[in-house]
Amino acid sequence: MSKVAIVTGGARGIGAAISKLAAARGYAVCVNYQSNASAAEEVVGEITAQGGRAIGIQADVSKADDVSRLFTESARALGEVTALVNNAGITGRISRLDETDPETMQQTIDINVMGVMLCSREAVLRMSGKHGGAGGGIVSISSGAATLGSPGEFVWYAASKGAVDSFTLGLSKEVTGEGIRVNAVSPGLTETELHASGGEPGRVARLESVVPIGRAATPDEVAQAALWLLSEEASYVSGAILRCAGGR
Ligand code: NAP
Repeated sequence: MSKVAIVTGGARGIGAAISKLAAARGYAVCVNYQSNASAAEEVVGEITAQGGRAIGIQADVSKADDVSRLFTESARALGEVTALVNNAGITGRISRLDETDPETMQQTIDINVMGVMLCSREAVLRMSGKHGGAGGGIVSISSGAATLGSPGEFVWYAASKGAVDSFTLGLSKEVTGEGIRVNAVSPGLTETELHASGGEPGRVARLESVVPIGRAATPDEVAQAALWLLSEEASYVSGAILRCAGGR
């Protein structure tokens, strides 16, 4: 059976590393993006230049209609999905809760929690043996923030990732017997544009010293964990929250 991965937010940061590593491991890759079409074109171009198959598809993971279209268009172009990586996520602007507007919190929950649930629902409908599917894997990119709480930075984001962890545990129990292993990776501090998007480009430099390993992760180090969970080497792993946080 051919391997097809949908990577949400797959054009930048950790998602781009996952898209490229998935292609190197033999997946045809649907590189989802929200607004950065040129980043998606670049990742798709790199994959196809290496002889792989990839397509970029715009969709906002927090919108049910977009998610449904994402899976339909991906299946039409690449074949039915066998692996979903729920990677798309935002923090909102770094600040205390009482300095944060409700819209930021709502948007974070919509993308980080509803996005994961909507995409996973669509994947289950297509991969579960109960629905005539051939099985597959789901990996969500959570965060060490789920257990750190992130005070003074983004407690609403930490809460959204706590929800991702609970969802991963529950869904794994629901569908592992139907041929879908469901897991999460919890990265710690990782070198991407996420910190600048949150308003603090120097966040990695500020926090590196509190990470036991003494540095931030590269996106590729997180991608390796995600691809391992999807691989046959992890054939008995479901419901795991794999911390990839340099000891933090
Ligand atoms: P990033 O570099 O800021 O990239 C975020 C990606 O998410 C972008 O590709 C963006 O698409 C996409 N995205 C945002 N909203 C979306 C939406 N509504 N629909 C579809 N795609 C959307 O972030 P990153 O650091 O790689 O983060 C990836 C994941 O890792 C996130 O879930 C994040 O919470 C988690 N994480 C990151 C760190 C870290 O230190 N960096 C640590 C722990 C966990 P566009 O390119 O179109 O904007």
